[in-house]
Amino acid sequence: MNMMESAKPAEDDTALPVSERIRARILNANQRFHANDNIASFIAPGETDALLDEVAAKMKGVLESLVIDTESDHNTHDTARRVAKMYLTEVFRGRYVAAPPVTEFPNAERLNELMIVGPITVRSACSHHFCPVIGSIWIGVLPNEHTNVIGLSKYARLAEWVMGRPQIQEEAVVQLADLIQEKTQPDGLAIVMEASHFCMSWRGVKDMDSKMINSVMRGVFLKDPNLRREFLSLIPKKG
Ligand SMILES: [Zn+2]
Repeated sequence: MNMMESAKPAEDDTALPVSERIRARILNANQRFHANDNIASFIAPGETDALLDEVAAKMKGVLESLVIDTESDHNTHDTARRVAKMYLTEVFRGRYVAAPPVTEFPNAERLNELMIVGPITVRSACSHHFCPVIGSIWIGVLPNEHTNVIGLSKYARLAEWVMGRPQIQEEAVVQLADLIQEKTQPDGLAIVMEASHFCMSWRGVKDMDSKMINSVMRGVFLKDPNLRREFLSLIPKKG
């Protein structure tokens, strides 16, 4: 049962906080809004500023509950707004803005050799603690004559957009693979991500050296162990 059915449409109710208006639109469209989902198409022009005000006010409440004197402590006086701005416009920007424009070209040269892009720097944060996740990605593409070709820098743009959300590494690489697959339609796609999770070093077990490595293989990379080996041998040794 859809709980929203009985509720009146919140669309024009400007008395509601902007986050609730956005949430109502997402629920009406039956879409998901997990931490690593992009919700840009549900945000009306101009609402981002209102959202920033709302998050800043709530962040101020967090500082108050942490018993920090933001009135006399000049260091934390504007922290609430700085954190709100950092979340909405920097580190979690990939939730709130539309996908970067990527021009696709036909594969006029009929490229059909393994192509590797990387390392692409990854800056993300874990969904569990909002702690930074910093690392690198390598992308392997095996094009065919129908594959769309995109500029090398576009892989980095797409990765930045997907990683600019609270993420779980395993889900992040799958989201990125789906996006590149959809944009370029190659015969094979391989992604390896290696990252340090600050929730392992700054807190928790406080292990400074642990890194998480994972990969997704699609198409011919799944079927052809030689191709997989070639890709893995060409990306720099990790550890
Ligand atoms: Zn974490």
